[in-house]
Amino acid sequence: MTLEDVEKMNLHVMDLPKRVVVGNGTISYLNKYIEDLGGDRPGQIAIVTGPHLATSLVNKLTANLEGLSYRIYIAYKSTWKELEKIEKQMFSDGNPSIIIGFGGGKSIDLAKLISHRNGKIFVSIPTSPSHDGIASLFASLKGFKKTYSIKAVPPSLVIVDMNIIAKAPQRLIASGVGDALAKFTAVEDWKLAHEEIGEYYGEYASNLALMSAKLVMEKIEGISVRDEDSIRTLVEALISTGVAAGIAGSSRPCSGSEHLFSHALDIYVNNEYSFHGEQVGVGTIMMAYLHGLDWEAIKNAIYIVGGPTTYRELRLTKEDIVKGILYAKQVRPERYTILNKYNIDRKFAEELAKKTGVI
Ligand SMILES: [Zn+2]
Repeated sequence: MTLEDVEKMNLHVMDLPKRVVVGNGTISYLNKYIEDLGGDRPGQIAIVTGPHLATSLVNKLTANLEGLSYRIYIAYKSTWKELEKIEKQMFSDGNPSIIIGFGGGKSIDLAKLISHRNGKIFVSIPTSPSHDGIASLFASLKGFKKTYSIKAVPPSLVIVDMNIIAKAPQRLIASGVGDALAKFTAVEDWKLAHEEIGEYYGEYASNLALMSAKLVMEKIEGISVRDEDSIRTLVEALISTGVAAGIAGSSRPCSGSEHLFSHALDIYVNNEYSFHGEQVGVGTIMMAYLHGLDWEAIKNAIYIVGGPTTYRELRLTKEDIVKGILYAKQVRPERYTILNKYNIDRKFAEELAKKTGVI
């Protein structure tokens, strides 16, 4: 009997991060936490990071790995091809026991998936609060047959250094706000799927995700002026929603119709410019409208932190937005959302985008 067979026995499995450390200067203790993970003598460490990360940040990380053996790999794209390239290089260089994702969504997702595929310990060290993959077991990659989230492993260790996070570019902070507010519509979609087609619904996970979105909404002014406590709330919200997905055993509390819209843009438009949370934020405005939620408050919150709320700000055309709405349902037909309640044709998509001021 395999673990998969066991899971089929109607058991509910929760995959959660093992240790999450949040605070100022936490990276200075990295060495100790890593040693704790790998027993007395941790083996080789592989670090996956992005090309745009400041050298000073990478130096800060490696300075705290003194006495340990490590290699650095640069992830240029969040594609399946890139994953295979890095993975091949990594394992021809040696056999690392710990894989660290250091940076934004790309680096963390690639490190997470490579760890999962090779049964290695995964450590997540975000440098910005831009997405909810920091502590979750889900990762997303482009160019794979599934462009939406892939189940991997939750991190064994998450290190959030507020001294680093608080200096993240505003665009990445706004992107994180978009991914956090998405929980308003994701949770509504989940409830709807439960009511209409009897899908499993976890009240605890759902409330946890919703609470995170509400807290971010409450702290939105503070986040806009980069108040450190407010940014900490945003990071904690993104961690908690990742944990909510672990509790639910699915990405349901984190990802609904607004994510389908973003995934459709990834597939059919492939806009290299915009970030995941930026696209998702715009999706949330429109899906909140369909759910009868206060979409204007969501739009205003994204606007206040400097995030995109229109096609122009996403550097897309009006037609791209219409395409995103039209094809959202096709990305993942089995995921029941508010989009299933409507006959989505061109006229509907145009009206929705116009009414919410996206086009
Ligand atoms: Zn997301």
